[in-house]
Amino acid sequence: MQGPSAIQKIAKSEKKYMTSSAKQTQQFIDGKFVAGTSGRTFPNINPINGKLNSDICEASKADVHAAVSAAKAALTGPWGKMPVETRTNLLHGVAAEISRRFDDFLEAEIADTGKPTSIASHIDIPRGAANFKVFADVVKNVPTESFHLDTPDGRGALNYGVRVPKGVIGVISPWNLPLLLMTWKVGPALACGNTVVVKPSEETPSTATLLGEVMNTVGVPPGVYNVIHGFGPDSAGEWLTQHPDVNAITFTGETRTGEAIMKAAANGVRPVSFELGGKNAGIVFADADFDAAVDGISRAAFANTGQVCLGTERVFVERSIFEKFAQALKKKAEGFVFGDPMNPATTMGPLISKEHREKVLGYFAAAKKQGATIITGGGVPKVAAEYEGGHWVQPTIWTGLPQDSSVIREEIFGPCVHLEPFDTEEQALNMANDTPYGLATTIWTTDLARAHRVAGKINVGITWINCWFLRDLRTSFGGQGLSGIGREGGVHSLEFYTELRNVCVKL
Ligand code: NAD
Repeated sequence: MQGPSAIQKIAKSEKKYMTSSAKQTQQFIDGKFVAGTSGRTFPNINPINGKLNSDICEASKADVHAAVSAAKAALTGPWGKMPVETRTNLLHGVAAEISRRFDDFLEAEIADTGKPTSIASHIDIPRGAANFKVFADVVKNVPTESFHLDTPDGRGALNYGVRVPKGVIGVISPWNLPLLLMTWKVGPALACGNTVVVKPSEETPSTATLLGEVMNTVGVPPGVYNVIHGFGPDSAGEWLTQHPDVNAITFTGETRTGEAIMKAAANGVRPVSFELGGKNAGIVFADADFDAAVDGISRAAFANTGQVCLGTERVFVERSIFEKFAQALKKKAEGFVFGDPMNPATTMGPLISKEHREKVLGYFAAAKKQGATIITGGGVPKVAAEYEGGHWVQPTIWTGLPQDSSVIREEIFGPCVHLEPFDTEEQALNMANDTPYGLATTIWTTDLARAHRVAGKINVGITWINCWFLRDLRTSFGGQGLSGIGREGGVHSLEFYTELRNVCVKL
């Protein structure tokens, strides 16, 4: 374990969003950092050692109202009158400023999540910047529909569509990829001319708050981007979804939270876009490029300590290569390095919280009780003394559980995977589709016809063939069944973040 830890680096880098005396992370309302009116704070814990990062100012109902009011007022201010060219240039400026302050974002994200710099510096922060650039370009280049109508009097009519912003968007985001998933919604919302009130996860409030500094530096008008802090039920999350001036709600998180938000959104018939949980399958055929498949499934199962909605917790492997595959994946699982996230050699971080670790260890215990064969893991790894208070678990592989086991049916969201042999393509397909979720699948084969055939029959929003976590941001993203409602990405985001109006002109 070498190099300064994330928590030490944060202590040296004083950010404006934190008050210097008390180390409190503030809210960002109407262009200003404010403590808010509740007088309450809650702790932001560093997952690598269980120690305090900072205290977070908790929003009162009045703070939520102030943020929504600022966002509503900004719609008719300079932001609402801004030409698209100026607006999208500002968003390119936001992306550039995130890149310029790369280290500040990296340190804040690592302190909140404990994820290794090898992940955060390659995925989280670059994608946080890219989300502003991509959607600024999509909005500038989107075509509109226009038709010339024949009319009985021979004069004709011109019928065309106009896209306008939806208004104030409530953005509620999770903790696993905090900046990436939050900006994935804020980028298109702002590109389309809306204003936002963001409620980041209570576990990971820092990068959303730091983004407030970026908005001010770049000159995004006050009220366009607001951040409130708190929890879900009977707190900032629920109050935001209940506020009548929030015109639409976009949410990434657990399926049961989505159900609660949908009920709140029914009041006022507000639209929702939901990216929810998953219980994704991997299918490995005997003709696959063996090493690539082992590598791909290892990433899909263990990347970000298994805390990826698109991750794979059920893998079906053709029987003739099952034993060899299980041993190769075991070797990968046992090769992860735990410890200081700032050390480039570290490849696996802790789980996000003590509570989440208890949940994941509960599934480890359930697997054992239900008769699983443990190929590797199933417990807590040995870490250096300074990290013993962190939320570590071992990458874990099982086999031998029945398809109706809770470990196979429920989303665990940890670094674990169950392997199951199959004999026929049909059998693999049936088992992969035997879930109420429908987010993602990864298929490994060198038979092109089979790859397309299986992809066409899997009930998910995205199928990867011989890859995982790869996608052009202009294509659609979303899930079916318990995995979500709607599609975001490229022009698909415009369906949610704009109203399409129809104008018909008699000529
Ligand atoms: P979560 O649902 O517990 O929390 C997400 C956010 O919702 C947090 O900000 C939380 O404070 C807020 N919230 C909770 N209850 C609320 C309520 N009643 N009203 C309003 N807001 C409320 O999810 P999490 O534990 O932070 O994230 C992990 C989950 O997210 C997993 O299920 C994972 O699969 C899912 N996820 C899905 C995708 C996707 O694209 N489909 C991506 C990442 C994560």
